[in-house]
Amino acid sequence: MNNLPKGGDFLLEQTDPSSIFTVEDFSQEHHMIYRTAIGFVNDKVLPVMNDLEAKKEGLNKELLLASGELGLLGADVPEEYGGYDLDKVSSCIIAECIGKGGSFIQTHGGQTSIGIVPLVFFGTHEQKLQYLPEFVTGELVTAYALTEPGAGSDALSAKTKAVLSEDGKHYVLNGAKQFITNAGIADVFITFAKIDGDKFTAFIVDAHAEGVSTSPEEHKMGIKGSSTRSVYFDDVKVPLENVLGEIGKGHLVAFNALNNGRFKMAANTIGFAKYALDVSVEYANERRQFNQPIAEFGLIKEKLADMAAKIYAMESTVYRTAGLLENKVQSMDVSGPDGGRVVAACFDEYAVECSLNKVFTTECLGQVTDEGVQIHGGYGYISEYPIERLYRDSRVYRIFEGTNEINRTVITNTLIRRGLSGQIPLKEAIANLQAQMAAGISVRNDASDLVQACKDIALFTLGALLEKYGKKIAQHEEIVGKLADIIMSAFVMESALLRARKALARDCQDSAQLKINMANIFIYSNINDVFNRAKEIMAAIADGERLAELYSDLGTLLQYTPKNTIALRQEVAGAISSANKYVS
Ligand SMILES: Cc1cc2nc3c(=O)[nH]c(=O)nc-3n(C[C@H](O)[C@H](O)[C@H](O)COP(=O)(O)OP(=O)(O)OC[C@H]3O[C@@H](n4cnc5c(N)ncnc54)[C@H](O)[C@@H]3O)c2cc1C
Repeated sequence: MNNLPKGGDFLLEQTDPSSIFTVEDFSQEHHMIYRTAIGFVNDKVLPVMNDLEAKKEGLNKELLLASGELGLLGADVPEEYGGYDLDKVSSCIIAECIGKGGSFIQTHGGQTSIGIVPLVFFGTHEQKLQYLPEFVTGELVTAYALTEPGAGSDALSAKTKAVLSEDGKHYVLNGAKQFITNAGIADVFITFAKIDGDKFTAFIVDAHAEGVSTSPEEHKMGIKGSSTRSVYFDDVKVPLENVLGEIGKGHLVAFNALNNGRFKMAANTIGFAKYALDVSVEYANERRQFNQPIAEFGLIKEKLADMAAKIYAMESTVYRTAGLLENKVQSMDVSGPDGGRVVAACFDEYAVECSLNKVFTTECLGQVTDEGVQIHGGYGYISEYPIERLYRDSRVYRIFEGTNEINRTVITNTLIRRGLSGQIPLKEAIANLQAQMAAGISVRNDASDLVQACKDIALFTLGALLEKYGKKIAQHEEIVGKLADIIMSAFVMESALLRARKALARDCQDSAQLKINMANIFIYSNINDVFNRAKEIMAAIADGERLAELYSDLGTLLQYTPKNTIALRQEVAGAISSANKYVS
């Protein structure tokens, strides 16, 4: 386990298909967890969706308790605190399945991802013993309260204050938090305040303590069934022992919880997007126009195939990341009082991957639900059809857990910071590429070559940017954003391809063919976007002869033999239509 990939290594190294985790590697236990979690959503959540949307009193708590009874709240909690200490793949499976559950996703995620995890990572033994067992059963509900009216993306500019009382026994909190999931049903807030105006610190706050109050529920565009409220702290007394982590180190609690939250949200989007495709293909098979099912029209087939290829790429990306995280956790000693911090450090190692999982999957989710509405025609605009809700529900995923703009800056800036500090051999990889380019780059003949082309374009662009701006790249946000897209594409394309190649090595050609087709669709239809983004970056940093030189060099990186992606899409759409649901 010593040569585990470091975070960001994927851009610099060749990865062997056998070394990544894929959906096809699920164990018997993973399949069992999948059946339990999806069964819960199908049997308990979907039938009450209308009540949930209408905010029926007590329903969220009821569902949380029911999911707790099935063991769906304690995946990340050590056994000594009442949890199940499951591997990261199992935790990902639960999040994927809950992803079919509409706004219950947020109730569940508020509890498990961002509520429980800060305590698991940074809580003391006593804090864990006090809260975790009842968080795992759902008897106590928790919420993560970071955002403030004036401090959203810039979370560290929080105004909430904590002052030590005169008798030195507690902190007195004053301030307001905004848009807090589960606020209306929470018993405990994991929140943040500045001690003496500058030491940003995490606190565990009893939601029923004197001075804690909440606003009425927000009226939202989607995810209407989840509770979202402002939370007010008005001279709230918080015992000293309820400081979570160290004084002045609240940012570690906040951001490490978000790494986990981003990864889990990416897993949620898989179940969500599959549901959107399933209802869309069912509709397309049933709905007839011009005397035939609309699923037989080329332009509808194209949509179904693109939706499926995106979901396939989402699954490949997220489960590869789950495998990376699990291997990392397995390689460390996570026992003892500081075990949680070690797990947090594992997530931090893969912060780039967690952020790109979040950006990629949430944007795919938006595209999948949007095409789902289009397939439904006018009926897609009518709330009787589930796709209407799915479309509305999907929008917020690009906003919370760090907006996708913020996550794009995390992807690029973290990777560059690690490269410049020598944590990953970025400069060496750029120098290698330059040597290869001097020797001449061959035409790219297949999807593997195109994945390499994507990595080369990323490295070439990084090289040009480092030459131009050095460490100051971060100041050029539009460039940082485009570069993040290129880096993200490299990971996603590679994950899609490695999964198909792994399946091909294990199974016969026939059963791997659908995966190969979906990987090819994804890679061949996105590689030009990568190239164009790099061109835009070059045009922003050079002109005249230097620009011509950069364009010419860039051009050598992407000479490729095209593929008939229209035919590939027809095959994929055929498989999806025959199954009447997503298959891979
Ligand atoms: C339904 C819902 C549930 C939520 N649940 C929770 C929760 O449980 N706990 C919690 O703490 N928070 C929660 N949030 C808050 C959420 O995390 C924030 O809304 C989000 O972080 C963005 O903050 P903001 O809304 O203040 O937007 P702003 O930060 O004001 O951003 C506005 C726009 O400016 C962009 N922007 C800001 N800074 C930059 C920058 N440096 N570079 C480029 N662009 C930038 C943003 O990307 C965005 O497009 C929730 C929000 C919603 C809508």
